[in-house]
Amino acid sequence: MIPFLDLKNINGQYRAELIEACTRVIDSGWYIGGNELAQFEQNFADYCGVKFAIGVANGLDALILTLRAWKELGKLKDGDEVIVPSNTYIASILAITANNLTPILVEPDINTYNIDPKKIEAAITPKTKVILPVHLYGQLAEMPEIMTIANQHNLLVLEDSAQSHGAEINGTRAGNWGDASGFSFYPGKNLGALGDAGAVTTNNEELAQMLRALRNYGSHEKYKNLVPGVNSRLDEIQAAMLDIKLKYLDHEVAHRRKIAQLYLQNIVNPLIKLPLEYKEAEKYQQHVWHLFVIRTEHRETLQEYLAEQGVQTLIHYPIPPHKQQAYKEWNDLNYPISEQIHAEVMSLPIGPTLSVEEAEKVIQLCNSFKA
Ligand SMILES: *Cc1c(COP(=O)(O)O)cnc(C)c1O
Repeated sequence: MIPFLDLKNINGQYRAELIEACTRVIDSGWYIGGNELAQFEQNFADYCGVKFAIGVANGLDALILTLRAWKELGKLKDGDEVIVPSNTYIASILAITANNLTPILVEPDINTYNIDPKKIEAAITPKTKVILPVHLYGQLAEMPEIMTIANQHNLLVLEDSAQSHGAEINGTRAGNWGDASGFSFYPGKNLGALGDAGAVTTNNEELAQMLRALRNYGSHEKYKNLVPGVNSRLDEIQAAMLDIKLKYLDHEVAHRRKIAQLYLQNIVNPLIKLPLEYKEAEKYQQHVWHLFVIRTEHRETLQEYLAEQGVQTLIHYPIPPHKQQAYKEWNDLNYPISEQIHAEVMSLPIGPTLSVEEAEKVIQLCNSFKA
């Protein structure tokens, strides 16, 4: 069987180092808010090229607390509008509605799957305060264009970088484009903990301080609560696990890119549309291939055929956010590009331990598929 993503194998590569770090934390007697967190935050900030990284409990909290911090700092108020892609994992949108802000869904470019910058301007109103681009599947949204629009209209930018640790355009990485960026270290993400974890990156010190307070009951100083915060901390064991895995991230991304190039160059079945790596002559782009997402009008039969031949595939995602029961009030709205993407996408196996032989088998099966 070729599994979609083999987390046991991925973490098994670093077993000895992970156990050693766990032992160190156990023996330290200090489990929350210590040196392991401080060191990982510094190393992750350096990796992204930013001044500050603030560890939190998960990726959703990273997004929720950043918007919340902007409310506490007087930059946002209830009912303000946030532009977000209609094609995203629901967490990006939950972070907006959880803060009593209004999501304005903007359609993606069908080839890159990311928000279409040409459609952002038409969605801007006097109430628009934030653009929340999502770097879906490992590829940065078209950040140079998005930042130009944000600057012209004086909007904040919150990147959802949960799927794109290390992705870059012209040498600037995910997490260092907007005013802030939310990352997830869910085990299946490109940089994954052995449990839940997340972080916010920013170059803004005031925001960093507010986030450090919000994640810890709103306390800047022990037992002094300036704002009503929450408990959303990244614990010492997960920070220690992440600090080890961060060292190997670029190496793992290089392997993902190699597998992706094999797929892109060798899958030639006209029934299968391959993902497009967004390229303009003057731009250098690094896609980190969190997911390798193809499109086909024959998704069910292709998925069954691959499963019969021992290849596991997944669908990211089967139902668009505006068709979810959680957002009943939007169920009648039409976002045809997003709907088409959700109806046609399928993710092939990709990951740091998928072998070239396994990728070749996936390619051969994709090429022999008939509708
Ligand atoms: C995973 C993910 C999140 C949420 O991260 P969690 O750590 O699971 O809370 C947010 N946005 C996107 C695009 C994601 O893929």
